[in-house]
Amino acid sequence: MDPEDTEAREESEGDDEIEMLDASGIYDVVAAEDAGSGSSGSQEAENNTNGMRFGMRYYNTDRNVSWIFRTLQRFYRESTSSGSDEDARSGRASNEDGDEGTPSGPPQNFDTELPTNHSYLGKMESVSGIDYYEPGKKYQIHVSPHHSIIFPGQTLPVILSQSQAFHLNNQTEGRSIGLVFPPFGSEQYGVTCQMYETNVRNPRLDLRAKLRAHQRFRVCKESKRNNVFVGEVGDVVEVEVEILPELSLGCPLGNHFRGSLEKFLPRSSRVKMLYCHARTWPLFVYDQYDIGRVMAKIKHFLAAHKIETMPMDPILCSFWSAKNLPLEQEDRDRIFATNYVEVRMRIIAEKLNDPYYYHCAECNHKVAKFSDVFAMSKDGVQASYCNPGGYIHDTVTLYHVEEDALAVERRKSTEFSWFPGYAWKISICSQCRWHLGWQFVAEKKNLMPQSFYGLSQRNIVLKL
Ligand SMILES: [Zn+2]
Repeated sequence: MDPEDTEAREESEGDDEIEMLDASGIYDVVAAEDAGSGSSGSQEAENNTNGMRFGMRYYNTDRNVSWIFRTLQRFYRESTSSGSDEDARSGRASNEDGDEGTPSGPPQNFDTELPTNHSYLGKMESVSGIDYYEPGKKYQIHVSPHHSIIFPGQTLPVILSQSQAFHLNNQTEGRSIGLVFPPFGSEQYGVTCQMYETNVRNPRLDLRAKLRAHQRFRVCKESKRNNVFVGEVGDVVEVEVEILPELSLGCPLGNHFRGSLEKFLPRSSRVKMLYCHARTWPLFVYDQYDIGRVMAKIKHFLAAHKIETMPMDPILCSFWSAKNLPLEQEDRDRIFATNYVEVRMRIIAEKLNDPYYYHCAECNHKVAKFSDVFAMSKDGVQASYCNPGGYIHDTVTLYHVEEDALAVERRKSTEFSWFPGYAWKISICSQCRWHLGWQFVAEKKNLMPQSFYGLSQRNIVLKL
């Protein structure tokens, strides 16, 4: 945020409006610099920094809690009355800031390819080459900590400071790096990432790059004792890791398919029944590990949500589904740690029947139904986006949230917008004021959807 913007914003907010001192919005991440010269001094600067990195907490000085609550309720009503889903259906634009918008034309659907380009990072150049590691073998590689699991196939945008970029270049020649996640169980896992696009190298500028995750690994025990993984992407240490294999058990009845009937399997349940008579377990047990059956179930589930971006390769599909379907963190951990695609698919299939809700991670308030998620990006319903401070938000996109669940800031901005053509507004929990995400509002009256929500995965939890 530039200082002029901050001043204008403070002036524009009257006594009846909430002061947002440490909003961790997409663009409020450099507010600490402004705060250093502001009236609140170092305490405010610290809060701003925390807001960027860890927290999403708003606070308001000299005003009591009930006043804040009433104000937020009012903000919510005003925001939703002009930028609601009703508007999306009727084609009206959010217009509370006096924005006249552009003349309306025929409805135009948003190009879901655009967010995958991460155009807010600026002009990028391709980086050639790829490092491939032999599964099952151990390697010394340079790794950096990351706050959440990144599955193979996923794209990760990063912004590194000058010093981080210098360190990374020295250690890894700037092409590949491993990301290590918070430990689960007694093990610590990570994924190798390849830089495939970067900005023009200039030692006086920050480093902006797009990484693609490739191979899972487990950190060897000796390395875990010698290193503490605390920090952000760009803090690099060298550790020994074991590259994990991607295995498939094959069709559970496959070893017993013989003769002319084989060509009807695994499509024919009648033939499957025939072979099952000679096996130990009934057919439904084998079906749980039948990848084709599970993928069909996932596809059916996704069709109800109008999501059509599921990869057809079973291994990629298992990782994509782990990221995009309603799974609890514990399930995602288990899926990442297992080498067998059938086991991953079984965990996923078990979870598809239940109605899940997103709750505020701070106060447990119900925020949104999982059934309202949709894919605003080709990468799926959840994708990683980077703010100007380098913080990476895993963001899930939804058409709707529960009534009165969020308070949405009136002020909107298109700066550094992750979805070209949309302005963002900071959205917080109406109960505890924890930052949960953003409402995105179309700048053009004919761009569909007219508005939607992006919730930061780190600030919400999925529950039944
Ligand atoms: Zn809350």
